[in-house]
Parts: sequence; C-alpha cells; structure tokens
Amino acid sequence: MTRPEPQPGIMEIALYEGGAAHVAGISNAIKLSSNENPLGPSPKALQAVLDGTGQVHRYPSSDHAALRAAIGEVHGLDPARIICGAGSDELIAFLCQAYAGPGDEVLHTEHGFAMYRISALANGATPVEASERDRVTDVDALLAACTEATRLVFVANPNNPTGTMIGSAEVARLADGLPPRALLVLDGAYAEYVDGFDAGAGLATERDNVMMIRTFSKLYGLGGLRVGWGYGPQAVIDVLNRVRGPFNLSNLALAAAEAAIRDADYVRHCRAENARWRAWLAEALAEAGVPSDTSCANFILARFASRAEAEACDSHLQARGLIVRRVAGYKLPNALRITVGDEAACRRVAEAVAAFKAGQP
Ligand SMILES: *Cc1c(COP(=O)(O)O)cnc(C)c1O
Repeated sequence: MTRPEPQPGIMEIALYEGGAAHVAGISNAIKLSSNENPLGPSPKALQAVLDGTGQVHRYPSSDHAALRAAIGEVHGLDPARIICGAGSDELIAFLCQAYAGPGDEVLHTEHGFAMYRISALANGATPVEASERDRVTDVDALLAACTEATRLVFVANPNNPTGTMIGSAEVARLADGLPPRALLVLDGAYAEYVDGFDAGAGLATERDNVMMIRTFSKLYGLGGLRVGWGYGPQAVIDVLNRVRGPFNLSNLALAAAEAAIRDADYVRHCRAENARWRAWLAEALAEAGVPSDTSCANFILARFASRAEAEACDSHLQARGLIVRRVAGYKLPNALRITVGDEAACRRVAEAVAAFKAGQP
C-alpha cells in the first residue's frame, strides 16, 4: 500500500516548543519564558490597532510601503532594501526556501535559535552546528565549519538563549571569511536592548553577502501580531520578495508596527527599564549562588550545578507561579533562561531562587 510521504528532512524536525504560559492550579502565574516585554507595546501601537478595526474587511498593503518607509526613516536605511515578514521566523523560512535545498548546508552556532535548524530541514537542507566558546559565538569555529556547500550562516547577536554577543570587528571578520556562495544572516532580535548598536545594518549596506533580520516581538512587545523585518543587498531582497506571499502581514499588524517604531521615547524607556532590572536580577541571583554571563538582551541565562538542580529550581519556581524556560533543547541542560520581567516579577524570582538555593543540600 502506498501513502503520502513528506519531503526528505521534514520528519527530522523536532517541533518547536514555545515558552509555557500556564501552571496547572495557579491563576496569576507570571510568564518569563518567551522574552516578551513585560511593559507591553507602546500605547501608540495599541491605539493604531484600535483605529484600524474598521478596515479589517479590506486586504492589507502587499508592499508594506508605509512600514518600510517608517523603518527606513528611523534607522537611516533605504526602504527598497527592506522586507517585512510575519515575524522574523517567516524571514528565516524565506531565506532557507530561497537559498538552501538538498545537498546545501545551513550553518548556525551551538546554542543557536531553534528556527534555523527547523527551516533548514523543512527545505531539505542540512543543518550544521559550530561550537561556541563558553557560550559565546566563536567566529573561528564558524569559519572552520564552512564548506563549499554552505549557503546560509545564521548568527543571533546578541544570541538567544545565551544573552552574549560578539563585537562588530568579529562579525566583519566572519563576513570576510565566508565561502563565495554563503550569505551571512545577522539576527538582531534583541538588538534594541543594546544602546547604540546597529545590529549589522552598516555591514549589510556595504557587503553583498550580509543580511540583517529584526523583530517587533521582543522590545516592541508585539509578538502576538507577528511582524519582523529584514534589510540586505537589493539582490537578496528581490529574491525573498518572490517567495513572500502578497498579503503576509495583516493591516492591524502593519499599523501597530509603524506606530511602535516611531515611538522612540517608549523604546528608550523599555531599554532603560530592562537594563536596570536585568542588572539587579543578575546580581541577586549571583548572591544566591546562581551565576550567569553578562546578558546583552532581555533575559538571563541562570546556571546551576547540574541538570537535576536546574530542573528542581524550575519546579520550585513553577509552584510559586513563576514560569521560566528550560533550555536543555539548546544544549544547556544545567541552565534556565529567565526573561527580565517588571520590578515585581524580578523581586519574586530573586526571592524564590534564593529560597531554593538555601534549601539545597
Ligand atoms: C524571538 C526570536 C526571533 C523571532 O521571533 P519572531 O516573533 O518570529 O519575530 C528570532 N530570532 C531569535 C534569536 C529570537 O529569540
């Protein structure tokens, strides 16, 4: 008997697990598992959604001209070289679909974001992993892992779930050393949390083998509306637009993102709040005996003595209504990734972790 068979690679995909949102039996749990902005989106973005409800029977813009113009203005970039996606996840999928197929390799770092591997496999390409050096992207290891078959190299900077980042000279050295047919994709999902950081926009302006992708899901607080964007060489943008569906972003999502990116005061406010409570939380955890690398993003990768201790702490937190993220799937079984919440959430996490450690043998 014959039956439908999926394309090669599809059945190798381990389903993406989003951060948990609920704890059984607890009604007011605090979700610190998906790196969402605890302050939510700009009030101007919410107003734009409300203002748009009268037009939901209309198809949205298919060229996203208004949002691309706003992004271009705010970041000083040519809107013609910008593409918008339903989250940056969709841009990762477009990149793999357009540039990687059977026999091709998609390179990412050891503790890199899960969607790189998933999208590579979804297109029949082979994901390849380069080791990191103490949870930091290692350019030498990436260059050593390149072959003639390398088509895409994904580097999140800052990285998730490590929170670490590498400097622009290192990123440029990576771009310089890639094989001729490889495209470097700099994922700046957390770039807004780094004051004065261009996330590789300058490099993507100058080089024909560098692309930058960004998201409205983290600092902008619009994960539920699904908006991301990419900036890169015109030739790459022209390719990606061929695989993009014409109506991939809803009109409400487009309106919210445009209002959000124009609200520079709100961005500064969220960046400052995050920096303040991130430092406070990291210090409180360290005092409790839980170290972490200096984070450049909106989460802390808390390290424990063993996998068993990390899991026990996770259970302890859950029982107190605090939902954080296990990262064994990212090859970090001894760690928990904790999103920096608001002041109350950070204080509750610090107290609960300290109590847990005090009770440990
Ligand atoms: C959250 C995240 C994304 C993207 O999320 P979208 O919601 O699809 O825009 C991309 N890369 C990294 C590293 C992330 O952490």
